[in-house]
Amino acid sequence: MIDQCGVCAGGTTGYNYNQNVDCNNDCFGTANYDGCNICAGGRTGVVPESSRDCNGECFGLHMVDQCGSCVMLADACPRDCAGVWGGDAIVDDCGRCSGGHLERSHNIRANMDMDCAGVCHGYAFEDACGHCSGPGTPRVPNSNRDDCGVCTGKGTGVQWNENKDCAGNCFGAAKYDDCGVCAGGSTRREPNQAKGCDGVCNSGKIDCDGFFGMADFGPVIITSAGSLCGLTLIICIMVVRSRLREHRQEMEAREQAIARVERQRNRRQEQHEDLTERVLANLPTHIYDASCSDAFSNTTCSICLGEFENGEELRKLPCEHSFHAECVASWLNVRHTCPLCVQPISAASGAGRGAVRGGGDGRPRGGAATPPRATTPPSGAPIGPGVRTGGGGRRPRTPQAWAEGP
Ligand SMILES: [Zn+2]
Ligand SMILES: [Zn+2]
Repeated sequence: MIDQCGVCAGGTTGYNYNQNVDCNNDCFGTANYDGCNICAGGRTGVVPESSRDCNGECFGLHMVDQCGSCVMLADACPRDCAGVWGGDAIVDDCGRCSGGHLERSHNIRANMDMDCAGVCHGYAFEDACGHCSGPGTPRVPNSNRDDCGVCTGKGTGVQWNENKDCAGNCFGAAKYDDCGVCAGGSTRREPNQAKGCDGVCNSGKIDCDGFFGMADFGPVIITSAGSLCGLTLIICIMVVRSRLREHRQEMEAREQAIARVERQRNRRQEQHEDLTERVLANLPTHIYDASCSDAFSNTTCSICLGEFENGEELRKLPCEHSFHAECVASWLNVRHTCPLCVQPISAASGAGRGAVRGGGDGRPRGGAATPPRATTPPSGAPIGPGVRTGGGGRRPRTPQAWAEGP
């Protein structure tokens, strides 16, 4: 009979019934069973031998993984968290896929979302000294930095504020000098100012050569507080000593000048007194007699303003003017001129050798009433009203000072 492929088969035809149908039941198809007994090829869409695994086993469990290895399925390399076969990205402690090829290609580091305190998305951070501080930690940020901004504490090897100088300035240059005084840098003090000239601190010696004799003040300076005070004191003492010295020299010069003037005055006083004695010795004396008043040019003593009385001793000057003998002696202590006419009286004049008339003015023979000239002694008023003492003693006031000699 005719089979499904239209071929007359069976019976005595010599053809098997449907012998032209392939394994895919296609007439005259080319599908065929492969080594794994899988109908493949033809119109099956199945690649022959495709059921063998990479190890050649039909329906085997080997496969080539993404890493290129033919391995049993159970041993195939895993995909990483990024879905990459055999990738090395990992899920970090904060649940983020990171690291590995992600870090290399995308700079996504593991645990990059974790703060320094280990808190995911926390706010603690490393301060300038490398300490984790801030929220979530017990540490205040930068609390390990000293006044100079230097990190201190364990591991740093830096002491707190060790960079401050003795004046308290960070990185300053002030240092304690040999005398223990902070100097240099910003202190405006020179190092070792407190040393004396002998090199000893606070010795107070600034004059080791003895020029100023300051050694006397050593104890005073030592007891002064602080080297600066000592220095100030030294300067003050030097100034005072200098002033005292100047003052002493000035006083000595003044005393010498006074002594010189005094000697000159004494010498002139002696000369004057000596001359006065000689003048007096040469002046003639007379006893006044009112009945002979014509013998006298005046009847009143112009020195004491008293009238002459009988029996009084008078002295007549070369100019013919007469005065009480004692009044003349006092007057001559002041001036060697006539109180009335101002004519000079010298030791050589008078003495009975005749009167020395004044230069031709013929002054006063009858000038009894002539008032004293204004050139009377400067020291007082031996001539003038009020000098007269009662009626008895007609003593002129003795002049205390005298002016120019004759
Ligand atoms: Zn008189
Ligand atoms: Zn006279």
